[in-house]
Amino acid sequence: TPSKEGKMFIKALFDYDPHEDKAIPCKEAGLSFKKGDILQIMSQDDSTWWQAKHAGDANPRAGLIPSKHFQERRLALRRPEILVQPLKVSNRKSSGFRRSFRLSRKDKKTNKSMYECKKSDQYDTADVPTYEEVTPYRRQTNEKYRLVVLVGPVGVGLNELKRKLLVSDTQHYGVTVPHTTRARRSQESDGVEYIFISKHLFETDVQNNKFLEYGEYKNNYYGTSIDSVRSVLAKNKVCLLDVQPHTVKHLRTLEFKPYVIFIKPPSIERLRETRKNAKIISSRDDQGAAKPFTEEDFQEMIKSAQIMENQYGHLFDKIIVNDDLTVAFNELKTTFDKLETEAHWVPVSWLH
Ligand code: 5GP
Repeated sequence: TPSKEGKMFIKALFDYDPHEDKAIPCKEAGLSFKKGDILQIMSQDDSTWWQAKHAGDANPRAGLIPSKHFQERRLALRRPEILVQPLKVSNRKSSGFRRSFRLSRKDKKTNKSMYECKKSDQYDTADVPTYEEVTPYRRQTNEKYRLVVLVGPVGVGLNELKRKLLVSDTQHYGVTVPHTTRARRSQESDGVEYIFISKHLFETDVQNNKFLEYGEYKNNYYGTSIDSVRSVLAKNKVCLLDVQPHTVKHLRTLEFKPYVIFIKPPSIERLRETRKNAKIISSRDDQGAAKPFTEEDFQEMIKSAQIMENQYGHLFDKIIVNDDLTVAFNELKTTFDKLETEAHWVPVSWLH
């Protein structure tokens, strides 16, 4: 709608370089951006090419970016697994900016027939990350804290950072208490180390989607429930949660307003230098079996971080490289302070 022009902000969920874009009418008129950039939409008059500029730039230049609709469709074309029926696209080559820009305005009909889609539900754009409309949000003093999700590859130091944060202010930060079906040990109390429940109840809760994640270890179930996140927030604490990145999409609701921090490994050279004497607990199920890092662990960590970033990078609000632990911790602390005091971009859907 025209009234929205210049007032609409979007977060880019993909990297864009107009020079690599065969479809853009004029490469020089394009605006390049990176995944995570916030763009201000200046015009949506054209259904294929929007005009936008970088938000917060002192001297922003407006340029053309692919419209959401156009980008979704061509991304869907490149990823056939999200298509039910392959769509046909004619790659119309265009020469000058002026001519093609005007042309593409006029030939909305042509644009439509470019995509021969029999039924609109034949492709699902939900998994095609393009743009997300965002708005600034600042937490009010009487409001609950936002959920903070920490993600990162095994061995990157996520647990160490989380532990440091917890002990820095135990009144302010909290973690979830997991559920388990194993028997309580004598020194443990229900609701402290774990919430102890029966296998039957655990299975029922899984059926009812009460768990964010769960796993099996030595014939017992262990898992983190959504309610355990709620109970930390209800105590007026910042809830620190570390989960697999695929879990994040279930938490992206107005109730949790998750702020996602990706803990990234430094270069392999720096890993070798900084983790020389450190130990790795290679998986959740290898409890206690901490071993010195091997070269394979470093390579695995970097590879797994790359996969996470490629696949889920559009969900990350902040990336912190854990090179030196103290430096990373200070950056984490600053990030938390800002989160509580400054405005941050959140999806518009979280505010209604
Ligand atoms: P223990 O029974 O010795 O307390 O823990 C056994 C294993 O369960 C450990 O490797 C621990 O990391 C894992 N575990 C504890 N809590 C959870 C959880 O919430 N989810 C999953 N998937 N595993 C957990």
